[in-house]
Formats: sequence, C-alpha cells, structure tokens
Amino acid sequence: MKFYKDHYDVIVIGGALSGLSSALMLAKEGLDVLVLERHNLPGGIATSFVRGGIEIEAALHEMMSIGPEGNRLKVGKFLEDMGVNIDWLKVPEAYHASLPGLEVTLHPGLETFAREVDAEVPGTYDKVLRLLNLCHTVFDSVNELSIHPMSKVKMLLKHEAFVKTAGYSTQEVIDTFDLPKKAQDLLAPYWIYVGSGFKDLPFTIFAVLMADYIGYGSYIPHRFSHEMSLKMAERAEAMGVQIEYRQHVDKILVRDGKVYGVRTARGDEIHSDYVISAAYPNKVYTSMIEPLSEVPKAALKMVNGRRLSLTAFSVIMILDKTAEELGIKDYSIFRGDTMDTDALYNDLKGLGPYRYLTCICHNLGNPDATPEGTCSFSITTLPRVDGWKTVKAEDYDRVKHEVAEQMIDEMSKYLNVDLKAHILEIVIETPMTVARYTGMWNGCIYGYAHTMQDHIVARLQTAEAEKFIRGLEFAGAHQISGDGMGPAVTNGRKAAKNVLDDYRSKEAQAK
Ligand SMILES: Cc1cc2nc3c(=O)[nH]c(=O)nc-3n(C[C@H](O)[C@H](O)[C@H](O)COP(=O)(O)OP(=O)(O)OC[C@H]3O[C@@H](n4cnc5c(N)ncnc54)[C@H](O)[C@@H]3O)c2cc1C
Repeated sequence: MKFYKDHYDVIVIGGALSGLSSALMLAKEGLDVLVLERHNLPGGIATSFVRGGIEIEAALHEMMSIGPEGNRLKVGKFLEDMGVNIDWLKVPEAYHASLPGLEVTLHPGLETFAREVDAEVPGTYDKVLRLLNLCHTVFDSVNELSIHPMSKVKMLLKHEAFVKTAGYSTQEVIDTFDLPKKAQDLLAPYWIYVGSGFKDLPFTIFAVLMADYIGYGSYIPHRFSHEMSLKMAERAEAMGVQIEYRQHVDKILVRDGKVYGVRTARGDEIHSDYVISAAYPNKVYTSMIEPLSEVPKAALKMVNGRRLSLTAFSVIMILDKTAEELGIKDYSIFRGDTMDTDALYNDLKGLGPYRYLTCICHNLGNPDATPEGTCSFSITTLPRVDGWKTVKAEDYDRVKHEVAEQMIDEMSKYLNVDLKAHILEIVIETPMTVARYTGMWNGCIYGYAHTMQDHIVARLQTAEAEKFIRGLEFAGAHQISGDGMGPAVTNGRKAAKNVLDDYRSKEAQAK
C-alpha cells in the first residue's frame, strides 16, 4: 500500500491550530486534505509536556474569542460547529495590575470593569465606559467587515466609528477621552498581547483586544491548550483528513507561477493544486519554493517590509505549595515599573532586565492544573528578537539563566516568597526554544507587528495583491488576524475559504 495518494485537493503544512482549522473547514466541504506535521504531535506551541510526572502547559495564558456557552464568539463557535467539543473554563478575572501606585484586580464585563477603574480613580466611570463601548462598536464592525466587505460609502454609513478611528493610533484615541494617567494605566496592561506601544498601535487592534477580552472574558481548556490541538486533530481525522506526523516539508513545488505539490525531507513528492502553509512567508519565499526563481521580487519585498512582532521568554515553575499557601491571589498578574507602553516596547529589544512581566497561576483558573498541594506559576515576557539574535552559542546557557533568575527574583520580591525555595520543576522557554520547536521565524509568536505603517485595514486591502503564487495560501500567526491562538484559528479558516472559493469557481467552470 502506498503511504500517500497520487493527488490531494489540498496539502496543509503544519498541524497546529491554524493548519488544523483549515483542514477541518475543507474536510467539512468534502475536500480531500493531507496535513503534514514535522512533530510527533499536533498543536505546535499549543501543547503541554510532562516533567516529574506533572503535565505542564507550554504556552497558553488565555484564549480570546471563545465567549460563554450559548453565546460563543467566533473561535468558540467555529470549534463547536466543527464538532470539536472543548471543556472550557472561564478565567476568573481580567487581570491584576501591579503598576507604580496601583495594585488593582479588574474583572471582565464592560460596566464591571469601568466601575472597578472608577473605584480606584474616582470620577472616571462615564469616560471609561464610553471608551469601552467605542471599542465594542469597532469590534462589531471588524467582525462584520471581515466577512462582508462593502463599499466605502456603505461602510461610512453603517460603520462610522470604525471608519472615524481607523487612521488613528491607540494613544491618539485614548487622549480624546481626557482620562487621568492612573485610569489610562489600568486600561493598558493587555498591550503586550498585541506587541506594539500605544503610539504605534492602530486603535482598531486595541479596540478588538479590549472588546473581546474585557467584554466577554477569556477562557482556557480544562486539559491545557493541548486539549484543543488533540481534539481538533482527532475530529479532522474522523472527517477524513489524513494527518501524517514526523513529516517535515522541505519544498513547495511551483511551476509557471502555480503550486503543484510539496516534497518532504524524507523525499516523498506529493501532488496537489493547493498548499496552505503554516510556515512563515519569510521561510517559504527564501528557502522552500522550488525552484527559487519562481519567487517574485515583490514577495521578498513584502516579507522584508514587514516588521516581525514579539517572541517569548517564559519561566514555568511547578511549586511545592498551593497558591493560597504562597499568597498568590490572582490567575493573571501584569507587573511593570511603568505603563509607558512605547518605552516598554523599546526596552524589549534588549536582553533584560525586563521591566514588564506577565504571570499566570494556572490553578486559580483550573483547580486541576497540578497535583494537590502544588501549583503552577509562570513568569513571561515577550521580548523583541533583536537582542536574542546577538547571543552567541557559547553564552546562551548563561544568558538564559541570568534572565530567568532576574524574573524569578522580581516576582519573589513582589510576592514576598522565595520562589526558588519552592521549585519542584522548572522549564525555561526562550525565543530559540520557540523557533526550534515550532519553526516560527526568529521565534516570533505573533507574526508581523500591527503598526501605524502596516495597518490591518491596509493589509485587508492588499491581501489579494500579496498572493504571489497561485494555489499557495498561508495560515498562522503571520496572517492578517495575527496575535495568538484564537487569531491563528481565524487565519486558518480564512486560508481555507480562499482555497474553497477558487476550487468552487474552477468546478463551476469545468461544468
Ligand atoms: C510562551 C508563550 C505564551 C503564549 N501565550 C498565548 C496566550 O496566552 N494566548 C494566545 O492566544 N496565544 C499565546 N501564544 C501564541 C500562540 O501560541 C501562537 O500565536 C499560536 O499558537 C500560533 O499558532 P499557529 O497555528 O501559527 O502554529 P504554530 O504554533 O506556529 O505551529 C506551526 C506548526 O507548523 C509546523 N511546521 C512548521 N514548519 C513545518 C514544515 N516545514 N513541515 C511540517 N510542519 C511544519 C510546526 O511544527 C507547528 O506544529 C503564546 C506563545 C508562547 C510561546
């Protein structure tokens, strides 16, 4: 029996969240799909691993776009529609902000959040609620426009707030609300999830982030992010998708500007008219297209013109006491010595000490996260890759441990607990770990940065012009929605839709 069929309708490179979303959607429409994943497991960084007999989440802090049962948002609804049933747990709070002069825990719900900010900074309720409502209006517009593109005139009539704010930075829009600095600081902690300082972050992105996370709250799967990956892969296979693990795709085969298949590192040549790639465009256009002469100059210009977003440095610890015993009160803590997001972004280009940390105590969102009497506590920062690229191989181990130690010391001081004395297991993930494990270009977990020069609205308009090779689509954090696991699912769906539209129009022509 042959390992592969002679031809597939679609080949998907990468069996993580984006690739599996594409596969699920295409299989539902009856297409014959092959997924090639270089690891022995699905999920990419949406995974977990076992140390000392304890299962440990590798990445996920919180998922956006899930929504409560009965009122699911787009990612939660897509998974349900596909028959992927995840045991979702709602994260109890939005976050605890530990900032100069502020120790405040804020909860999701637009009015709740505004009330809690007002309790800390009296007199701000109306303004904060107006700002959050504006975010919500823009969020609704983005959701509608991403599915139903419309003329500029219609857009202006139906989506006035979206059109009016689209050209402005987050800082410019927030400034119009004339909020005291402390209130602005309390609105800012999630900035790190989108990876640009407020002067350079399009308001549209901030609005979607706030409306989604603050409006509906965030969620985690009961059995870690790997529950999503495993259940998606299981469901895809049940729907007829062929998933092959330990299959690294080396080359995407192109002739006369059109894809005709892939070649794996093992040497198998597999044919299809469509390839969806979770591998970064940077990687694809510089080394995966065969022959490279099929790569148009414009494709290289596009990848060179885009700014890579942030990577990740994470210290994940299993501690020998419960959260309560260690005095950890919140699922999510954002701690910084300033909330000047532009200054913090600038600092992220170095190798620390990092001034802005995001910490998760999983047990406070999922009591079953670790064995009784223990808890899991992770400290993460999202550096730019610049500094890490300068680290020589012989210095890597030292630098990694110095940075981790600085982060543990900072949080030990804050919690007034010697965290090191309680470590049962510790794992340090660096930008290099991420790059090596997932193949993400330079270890960048969020794809290309959203900036005022490279705005999501402009990207939507240039998307068609950026299809440089017929039959080749991309799905992953590097596509339009960017920024995390939820958007990776949306990007996977979008790539599948592009393939389907083309496939159906060819079918119609052939009739
Ligand atoms: C520490 C950390 C914390 C994070 N926290 C969050 C969070 O709280 N919330 C959130 O939403 N996001 C978070 N993220 C980001 C999120 O994990 C990523 O944005 C998301 O998983 C990207 O998914 P993807 O589908 O692009 O796949 P990736 O995870 O990029 O995986 C790509 C897949 O393709 C495979 N692949 C690549 N090249 C090839 C090839 N040539 N042949 C075969 N297979 C290939 C890889 O093995 C991998 O499985 C975090 C990331 C990290 C590292």
